Amino acid sequence: MSVKHSLIVPCYNEEGNVENFLKETVEAMKGYTDSYEIIFVNDGSKDTTPKKLRQIFNENKDVRIKVINFSRNFGKEAAMYTGFTQAVGEYITIIDADLQQDPKYAVEMARILDSDPDCDMVAAYQAHRKEGKALSKGKHTFYKTISKMSGIDFISDASDFRTLRKCVADTIVALPEYHRFSKGIFSWVGYNTVSIPYEVRDRENGETKWNLKKLIAYAIEGIMAYTDKPLKLPLYLGAILLVISVVFGIIGLLAPYYGIISAVLFAGSLVLICQGISGAYLGKVHTQVKDRPIFISKEILSYEDNQESDN
Ligand code: UDP
Ligand code: MG
Repeated sequence: MSVKHSLIVPCYNEEGNVENFLKETVEAMKGYTDSYEIIFVNDGSKDTTPKKLRQIFNENKDVRIKVINFSRNFGKEAAMYTGFTQAVGEYITIIDADLQQDPKYAVEMARILDSDPDCDMVAAYQAHRKEGKALSKGKHTFYKTISKMSGIDFISDASDFRTLRKCVADTIVALPEYHRFSKGIFSWVGYNTVSIPYEVRDRENGETKWNLKKLIAYAIEGIMAYTDKPLKLPLYLGAILLVISVVFGIIGLLAPYYGIISAVLFAGSLVLICQGISGAYLGKVHTQVKDRPIFISKEILSYEDNQESDN
């Protein structure tokens, strides 16, 4: 039995939301298809979310519901990954459980995929960000910097709220890296992406899981996963120091005091350069251990398929 649309819903302490989420989603899907599944990934919630999900599962046998309970909190990235491995739908949507992302947009995104066979993924971005100006500016600067450092286009306003074709999800699942940073992965895999704006709603119940400490940790994770440039930093610093030490060395021919400074700087620059060289090699290892494919082919047209369909 084929499923048209899978919705993956990461849940961490969402006891106040999962019931309403189901109601609203069932309502929104009515106008689109009845061939859909909802995959709740309970990411080690400490409240009664697992109980609520079991209840929902038992009371709504007419809806295709899957509940995956993690043994502890692994984070939204892990929840999304698990959802991708379980989803069987032709289209797959990642959507939050707190109803900040209205399920009607999941239908809107699916319709875009229906109407445009060349579009592989539809990403929803917040039309109006509901956060402070400073935080918004900080995020924007971060994504601009990491895009420059990594050579991958990180779109500042893009969220995880998106709908993708199964082939894109399969590609994402095939990336075996442990430290996952979805924003980078969604960009890195390529494919044709269309962006649509969405109005973010206020959280229905519970509270956000983000705070400044978590945001900083997330930013560091992103940098470490997508660029090895920081590893080469000592190489550049060492080179600058070497030039300065030569300049001081020349001055030192006249004033011995500068000669001592030059010697110290020279020794320091050698240490940094050696460290930078190790970093450069480590960078190669860093890329290799991620075991990413050399390329991703989206479609293969072959004369053999023509022959098959002719018969
Ligand atoms: N979430 C999760 N594991 C976590 C943190 C969050 O599965 O460790 C889920 C959460 O239940 C919600 C979604 O990820 O469905 C987004 O989280 P949140 O609403 O806290 O983020 P925000 O909307 O504030 O960016
Ligand atoms: Mg939220």
